Amino acid sequence: MTLNLAIAGAAGRMGSALILAARSDARFDVVGGTDRAGSALVGTDLSLLNGKVPSGHIISDTVDAACAQADVWIDFTSPDATLAALSALKPAQVKAVIIGTTGFDADQIEAIKTASDHFAIVQSGNFSLGVNLVAGLVRQAAARLGPDWDIEILESHHRHKVDAPSGTALMLGHAAAAGRGVDHNQVAKLARHGQVGPRTAGDLGYAVIRAGGIIGDHEVMFASEDEIVTIAHKAVSRTIFAKGALEAAAWASTKKPGLYTMGDVLDF
Ligand code: NAD
Repeated sequence: MTLNLAIAGAAGRMGSALILAARSDARFDVVGGTDRAGSALVGTDLSLLNGKVPSGHIISDTVDAACAQADVWIDFTSPDATLAALSALKPAQVKAVIIGTTGFDADQIEAIKTASDHFAIVQSGNFSLGVNLVAGLVRQAAARLGPDWDIEILESHHRHKVDAPSGTALMLGHAAAAGRGVDHNQVAKLARHGQVGPRTAGDLGYAVIRAGGIIGDHEVMFASEDEIVTIAHKAVSRTIFAKGALEAAAWASTKKPGLYTMGDVLDF
C-alpha cells in the first residue's frame, strides 16, 4: 500500500525536491500540495514543476484541499505558514506531520509541542543522515573535550535563506551544549559585532555566511590554545533532505501522536 503525501510549499526549492524524490519511490504517492495564495504556480499540476508525467493533482492555496486524501503532511515553508497549517489540519485526516521549516520562535515551538498531542510530528532542522550523525559526534566531542576548548559553529547558505543561524547550526549547538551539560540558551552567542571584548569562557559562538547557491555547509570547531578539532558537513544536493523527510514520513505514519526527532527515526 502506498503512503499518500501532501507537500506544503510545493513550488519551493525543497517542495519540488520532495515531489521529485517521492515520485521516484514506489512507497509514496503525492496527492496534494500547497503554495502561498497569490503564487503564479497555484493551480499548476504538482509534477509539471520537475518535468515528470502530470500527477492529476494540482497545487492549492488551501490546506483543506491539499490534505483531503493525504496520510502525511510534509511542510518546508515558513514558520507562519507551518503554524497555520498545523491549526487547519485535522487528526481524522492526516496521521503524521513532517516539519522541515526552520526559524521558529519560542512561542511557535510551544505551539508545535501542543499540536503533537494530536499528530505524530517529526521536526528536524536537518533531515540528512550525515548531519544527524555529525550531531552525535559533536555531542560526544563536547562531552570529552573539557571547558578549556572553545566551541564555535560556522554555517554557510545560499543568498535566499531568510533565517540565521540555520536550523542545522542551532541543532549542532544544542548537541554541543547537551554534551557539555549546559543550557544552550545561556551560553549561545548568536552574533558578535563592535566592541564585544574578549571571548567569555564557555561561550558557544555562531558565525554565518550567506552567498550564492551554497546548499548548506556546517563546521563545528573545538579549539584549545594548542590544537583545533573540526567536525564538518557539506550538503551537495537537496535530495539528502528530501530523502530523509520521506523516511521520516514512512516512519511517523505508524507512530502514536508525539514530538519526534530525526534521531528517533534513525534510531541514533
Ligand atoms: P523556498 O522559499 O524555496 O520554498 C518555500 C515555499 O513555501 C515557497 O514556494 C513559498 O511560496 C511557500 N509558501 C510560503 N508561504 C506559504 C503558505 N502560507 N502556504 C503554502 N506555501 C507557502 O525555501 P526552501 O529552500 O524550500 O526552504 C523552505 C524551508 O525549509 C526553510 O525554512 C528552510 O530553512 C527549510 N529547510 C530545511 C531543511 C531541513 O532538512 N530541515 C533543508 C532545507 C531547507
